[in-house]
Amino acid sequence: MKKIVIAGGGASGLIAGIMAARRGAEVCILEHKDSVGKKILVTGNGKCNITNLSDMNGKYYSSNEKSLAKIISSISRFNAKDTLKLFEDMGLRCREKREGGVYPASEQASAVLEVLRDECLKLGIKIATDCEVKSINVTEHKRYIEYIKYIRADKEVDDKNNKGKKGKQNNKIIGEERGQMEYDSLILATGGKALPSSGSDGSGYKLARSLGHDIILPLPALVQLKCVYDNANNIDVFKIVAGVRAQASIRLFVEDKQCACEEGELQLTDYGISGIPVFQFSRIAARALYEGKRCKVYIDFMTDMSQNDISKYLKKFEYKTLADALAGVVHRKVAEMICVANGISLREKIKNISEDILSGCTNMIKNWEVSVVNTNSFDNAQVCSGGVPLDEVSDDFESLKCKNVYIVGELLDCDGLCGGYNLQWAWTTGVIAGMAASRWR
Ligand SMILES: Cc1cc2nc3c(=O)[nH]c(=O)nc-3n(C[C@H](O)[C@H](O)[C@H](O)COP(=O)(O)OP(=O)(O)OC[C@H]3O[C@@H](n4cnc5c(N)ncnc54)[C@H](O)[C@@H]3O)c2cc1C
Repeated sequence: MKKIVIAGGGASGLIAGIMAARRGAEVCILEHKDSVGKKILVTGNGKCNITNLSDMNGKYYSSNEKSLAKIISSISRFNAKDTLKLFEDMGLRCREKREGGVYPASEQASAVLEVLRDECLKLGIKIATDCEVKSINVTEHKRYIEYIKYIRADKEVDDKNNKGKKGKQNNKIIGEERGQMEYDSLILATGGKALPSSGSDGSGYKLARSLGHDIILPLPALVQLKCVYDNANNIDVFKIVAGVRAQASIRLFVEDKQCACEEGELQLTDYGISGIPVFQFSRIAARALYEGKRCKVYIDFMTDMSQNDISKYLKKFEYKTLADALAGVVHRKVAEMICVANGISLREKIKNISEDILSGCTNMIKNWEVSVVNTNSFDNAQVCSGGVPLDEVSDDFESLKCKNVYIVGELLDCDGLCGGYNLQWAWTTGVIAGMAASRWR
């Protein structure tokens, strides 16, 4: 039997293990958290957007444009429909919700993890939790990894399933043991750096680097943007609009060049902007900021009216305060923010405000210009960009630096848009590598 060791029990590692075990390999998954699939549980707000049935072209990024063709051709080898069939065969019904996004019919991410774990159990896959892969070693006679197994103390806790009775839960780490494990094939499925509390703390980059791989600097992607609005009155206007959710069109400019445009539900926070349209272009902003470039976002709160239309509309209500009249067009907090930023009292009637100032206000509805100063950290990011360059792995995701080692999932230099594309990448790379790793050559 071919012995396959998998570092990381996330989406890509679990599916790789299943595919390899189905082909007769002996599989052991080493996971350094106390359970596998922690990130799967939080995907899609706990509902898990498992894949997307729409065209995959234009949905992925890589720092090397030439790698995009490789990404798309890999996805066509194991695509969204194959994912649905695979999960259906493991006992998970899925349903398309909107814009091609597919979720488990139960709308529970836990159901996705459960079928993966059940399948591992059925196939006899060994899962060693609290086990961190520390190094990869290749000598003339053997290939092995070194790991640390964390030992936990048993702690008595209330057993939720058995009211009133006590159950045991492994909790505090009280020690560690070091060990070695030989492999015929090793699959690195350690994820990237996004949401490190789920286990993907970037340790996979160190392992890949030790094999001679380059690492494209990982940066947060699918993440909120921290912004400032320069105004004469020096008011931190984001404090006023925090909590607002508004349909808007947003455009990202890097060094005065438009790089992206998105429409959807924008969320305003006390530090900047969030929501799916922001996530979709956040990776571009993150890289531009890292390179020291200027980033700006222009927000249009009223896509179906021109600035002229809004001015005419306001004129009809000259007897009202500007704040009240604007609140008939945009969210009240946005209306108040526009007044405050322009130094207009909330009690000021439109008829007493100069044309110039009114025009500044209507311009803010259509073209509110904010400077992007940073992204939120990896703690808040859904994925990260960067990682192992795709031209350093074969079409089956075998390392071109070290034979018999495969690299899958987010550890690779590929990140997708929101909408199920990142999990699809994890399934695709895991399936292809799992099958290839289990073949004797
Ligand atoms: C909040 C949130 C919501 C998301 N929602 C969606 C969504 O709805 N749809 C979608 O497509 N994508 C979503 N994503 C992205 C998606 O979850 C990831 O792209 C995907 O899980 C990556 O899979 P992976 O197997 O490469 O890595 P991970 O899922 O990160 O798994 C890596 C595993 O390796 C373990 N590990 C790391 N280092 C070691 C080591 N040295 N030794 C042993 N184990 C190690 C980690 O503990 C972890 O369990 C979301 C992400 C987040 C954070």
